Amino acid sequence: MLPEYFSFHVPTKIVYGTGLVRKLGQQLPYGRRRALLVTDKVIAKIGLADKVRAGLEGSKIQVVAQYDDVPPNSEVSTVEACAAVGKEAKANLIIAVGGGSVIDTAKVANIIMKKGGALADHQGAQLVTKPLFPLVVIPTTAGTGSEVTKVAVIADLQNDIKLPFTEDFLQPDFAVLDAEMTASMPPRITGATGMDALTHAIEAYVGIESSPASDAMALEAIRMISRNILQAAAFPDDMEARGAMVAASCLAGIAFSHSMVGVVHACAHSLGGVYHLPHGEANAIMLPFGMEANLEAKLERYADIAVALGVRPTPSRHVTAHLGILKVRMLGRQLVYLKALAPNLKEAGIDDDFARLDEVVEKAVGDGAMVYNPTDVTPEQFRKMLLKAYKQPAFPIPVSRKSLQRAAQKERAKEIQHAFKDTDELVDILGGFLKSLKTHPEIGPSVLNSDLLIRFDYRNPTASVTIDARGDEIDYTIGPCDLEPEIALSMEADWAHTFWLGEANLVTALTRRQVFAKGAVHKATKLLPILKPAFQLYPEYLRENGHERLILN
Ligand code: NAD
Repeated sequence: MLPEYFSFHVPTKIVYGTGLVRKLGQQLPYGRRRALLVTDKVIAKIGLADKVRAGLEGSKIQVVAQYDDVPPNSEVSTVEACAAVGKEAKANLIIAVGGGSVIDTAKVANIIMKKGGALADHQGAQLVTKPLFPLVVIPTTAGTGSEVTKVAVIADLQNDIKLPFTEDFLQPDFAVLDAEMTASMPPRITGATGMDALTHAIEAYVGIESSPASDAMALEAIRMISRNILQAAAFPDDMEARGAMVAASCLAGIAFSHSMVGVVHACAHSLGGVYHLPHGEANAIMLPFGMEANLEAKLERYADIAVALGVRPTPSRHVTAHLGILKVRMLGRQLVYLKALAPNLKEAGIDDDFARLDEVVEKAVGDGAMVYNPTDVTPEQFRKMLLKAYKQPAFPIPVSRKSLQRAAQKERAKEIQHAFKDTDELVDILGGFLKSLKTHPEIGPSVLNSDLLIRFDYRNPTASVTIDARGDEIDYTIGPCDLEPEIALSMEADWAHTFWLGEANLVTALTRRQVFAKGAVHKATKLLPILKPAFQLYPEYLRENGHERLILN
């Protein structure tokens, strides 16, 4: 049944692709900007912040300051210090590179940078009425979805609570999902953050604010996470699994940003506030208990979730829904086996015999997430589920690495950098290749039949080649040409090289702004018949002319 009302708005531009960060400057739609780079010490140490800086080289975005003192579960003083660094440097763009702690710090620091004051002045919801500085987010964990949400959560260490901020203007402007940025996560962070994303999707799907739009995102995220989380934990370099996880976590973020979360998050917020447990791990351990608490209220929906998790449907929706909970428990225990998750709250970091259980219960009952939960949960129920989660043995379930569908693959994006050392070499190799097409028995006649006047403009190094196929034979002009082309395509020389090797897709490149097209672009379809033979010819041409080094293996 459709809800009486729903709205759906995702202002964040999301781009996905392995290796995208290496060309970050090309992705971002901003002109001259002074950027504050927000990250944490671990990310800075392992070189991910430098990778972002390198990706901006050649663009008009200048990193004028870096704040890298964000701890896990960021807190009030961190946000204020970060904002002070940004203000001092007169930054007018923020780039957050990290997990949820970094992203949330950047979000709330942005409010202070724009509006002034201290963090306490901005606490609440919908207090920001004007756009903030553009915020670019590059997640390095695949869990929180904070790159697309209007929420930020900051720890208040004095009061042992987590402060929520909910503002439409907190939604980042640009999110870059690049699996390479998540590959360095150790198993324990992969497991915890991945289960965090699964929790977002499941709670979004059963929440009272769910809508057909959030449902679609949530179910697809559940499917993707259940099929990839073990691979990502077992094989850190499996870029396909990493990519699926970072994309799924973003979908789950969109889903829960619209329909919010529930009882599991109420527990995680409270456990994070009182015991400083990592958010994802707390969610992961509490998830099956939260599903049980809500089961009767949303039986049908839990049966859908079970199927999305890969459970074969049974004639009884009740049984199917229960099998879904079992599947989540199994995933948890398999992650325990892979050393990617703690088995219970005790192992996750509660080392005082759960002496502050009453406090945890009280904070969970009063947590904002309970407003959206599909059913009431009594303090007694909270107490029982927290106690069970505290001491459950959660024996590991072995996962045979062979049984994971894919072997570990180092699928780094195929790419050649600086293929041509200067314009002369570019003209010699790429220009020479284009000229050679004229005499090819299959390609030559097709080019002539196209009747086109087309120009290729290359950058790094610079050159242009104009092909005029409107007469009886094909004419080539290298360099400036007085003729006005029907189609002008401009691109990096490296991209052109990768394209002729058959390793790049023109349509994708147009969408990714790697190639810019001017003129009657639709007429370029006349050249489609030449592509297949040309892709075969280019490596042969390179080999014959002594340029083997330019052939990808
Ligand atoms: P995190 O940002 O706290 O990071 C956890 C640890 O992982 C840190 O030590 C970090 O340095 C390390 N790490 C991150 N990426 C790494 C990488 N690629 N390689 C190696 N180490 C890496 O963890 P998180 O789970 O992403 O974020 C948790 C925070 O996000 C909590 O504060 C939580 O409340 C908040 N949160 C926010 C939202 C939202 O919508 N705003 C949603 C969920 C959670």
